[in-house]
Amino acid sequence: MEFADPFAAPGHWYKGNLHTHTTQSDGVLEPKEVVSRYRAAGYDFLALTDHHTVTRVAGASDDAFLLLLGTELDGDRGQVAESVHVVAFGLSGPAEVPLAPSVPAAIAWAREHGGEALIAHPYWSGLTVSDMLRWDGHLGVEIFNTGCHYEIAKGCSTVHWDDLLGQGRRLWGFAVDDSHHYRSENHPTDTARAWVMVKAVELTREAILSSLRDGLFYSSWGPTIHEVTLTGEQVTARTSPVKEINFIAQRWASQSFSAPEGSTLKQASFRPSGREEYLRVECRDPEGRWAYSNPIFFGERKPPS
Ligand SMILES: [Zn+2]
Ligand SMILES: [Zn+2]
Repeated sequence: MEFADPFAAPGHWYKGNLHTHTTQSDGVLEPKEVVSRYRAAGYDFLALTDHHTVTRVAGASDDAFLLLLGTELDGDRGQVAESVHVVAFGLSGPAEVPLAPSVPAAIAWAREHGGEALIAHPYWSGLTVSDMLRWDGHLGVEIFNTGCHYEIAKGCSTVHWDDLLGQGRRLWGFAVDDSHHYRSENHPTDTARAWVMVKAVELTREAILSSLRDGLFYSSWGPTIHEVTLTGEQVTARTSPVKEINFIAQRWASQSFSAPEGSTLKQASFRPSGREEYLRVECRDPEGRWAYSNPIFFGERKPPS
């Protein structure tokens, strides 16, 4: 069994967003302004991930805030997808970003430059599971993307994630903003809306990356997950007040707990049958916003198919 348990791990909670645009690509706000808005919103770290360029902001990092270097690469196609996007973050320094790399080349580039890679917004791109089973070496997939949610209602990619997890892929799930600061009457701001909550020993690039690699985080755009505990034969989740708490495993081996109309719940327990290959927790607050734990993996690690 593999249970990356951020709730019991030592350290502090740090809130961050790993996918953000500025005027250095197609964002609306200047890099400095983006940093100051996330800082003001209570984020501890931020990756600027402009398309095809690594944006730097002098003096943005200090004891209380960490700016990670990153970029967003694209160039490959999928079965349906015309353009597959890969987010690279945590780079060790500025670097020349390759134009139109394949997905494996983009993932390799991120790791060669000291960072990690995510498959961005699967639902928005039109990615299929067959596409995503071809790729390896990335840390995870975006399971919620604020910009895609507000623009075309395709921000939620948890089904893509479950399909991969059900095939034995051990990938972490990330909620990100992909903020461009586009907004209109029917499009609320996509700035400082979603985040990863990382348990790390300190607010440094190395410590944050290490915890992200180990899965010591959960993702949210609303609720707080206080705890996921595995005791004896039961998994228990404690959360902020929510309308539903779901325990999700492969196929139908899942269970949903909903609060009666007009009320909320803060805890639910699930007794695994023993046939689960993985189990993750998600919950939805009264505003319709979700939080997602990373999976507990049962059984032996399978080689990639
Ligand atoms: Zn993108
Ligand atoms: Zn983007």
